[in-house]
Amino acid sequence: MTGHALLSGVVVGGTGGVWRVRTEHGDTIEASLRGRLKKSNAGRRADGSLRRDTVLSASKTSKLAVGDDVLLEEGERGGGWAIAEILPRRSKLARRVPGGGQGERIVAANVDQVVVMFAAAKPEPHRRMLDRFLVIAESNELTPRIVINKVDLVGDDAARERFNVYERIGYAVHYTSVKDGRALDELRSVFSGRRSVVTGPSGVGKSSLLNALFPGSNLRVGAISESVNKGRHTTVGAAMLPLLTEADGYVIDTPGLREIGLWSVPAAELDRCFPEIRGLRDQCRFADCRHMAEPDCAVTNAVRGGTIDAERYDSYVKLLSELAEER
Ligand code: GDP
Ligand code: ZN
Repeated sequence: MTGHALLSGVVVGGTGGVWRVRTEHGDTIEASLRGRLKKSNAGRRADGSLRRDTVLSASKTSKLAVGDDVLLEEGERGGGWAIAEILPRRSKLARRVPGGGQGERIVAANVDQVVVMFAAAKPEPHRRMLDRFLVIAESNELTPRIVINKVDLVGDDAARERFNVYERIGYAVHYTSVKDGRALDELRSVFSGRRSVVTGPSGVGKSSLLNALFPGSNLRVGAISESVNKGRHTTVGAAMLPLLTEADGYVIDTPGLREIGLWSVPAAELDRCFPEIRGLRDQCRFADCRHMAEPDCAVTNAVRGGTIDAERYDSYVKLLSELAEER
């Protein structure tokens, strides 16, 4: 007899072996992954019927990730909690290995949004880097959102002028200051009840912002990410930091999107990661147009006509050549 699933929860940490799970009651417990689930029949219910919506293939079930929603059951003879079932993932942030094919590593599951944070100044924002973060989110089919912090240093107008190109593309852009409190209420609702990956260069105010929004959550996003960034590329793990809000919500602390990288995004699909190019690519003369020197290219025409921002196009060209070099 299998035990009854007693509790639902979300995996907030751990890397194989013991996992930390925050239960529906708000406490965090340690749980192991059930052997049976790890090996096989994850797609079957205890009574043997097929559970198509819940199927994670046998090979994938060992890849339980931070952010996975799970069902827990009490182990036999007081053996502690066990993860009995992994619920279907609605999204994931994955690190793919070069060369494509299999071998992706799931950094976090069920990510609702990627919050890309830059400072209006100190440190000076680099748009090329911003575009890279956006593309990584897009390539994972995650919704990015942009936060421009430290607006107190340059003023609202200057910040908006500089970044409204992203608003025109359709991204949500928030102009904040932890120092003077500007737009913090707006941002609090952005984070509430969602699972967010927060990323951006160090020093832009990620930890300051989250701690100002959710006092007591004790988030050290920058500190953790930086210490991992200094290490080798092998340590790609994530942890979820629960936000102290009524609606709940999590910040997923990853080693940084740059480490996750763009590996194995096929060069031919890069244009889909730029919304303003995605919307035009079907109008190019050639179906496999790379939007470089091809004739009748709707994209380069739009760059010339000014409807596609030239700097954004430069980012596309730069990333395309990087992806081509990886081959
Ligand atoms: P993180 O590395 O992205 O987590 O950045 P921190 O939160 O550690 O902040 C870096 C520095 O920027 C700290 O000295 C903060 O006090 C400062 N800072 C954070 N937000 C603001 C802001 O809105 N305006 C100004 N002027 N400084 C800020
Ligand atoms: Zn084209």
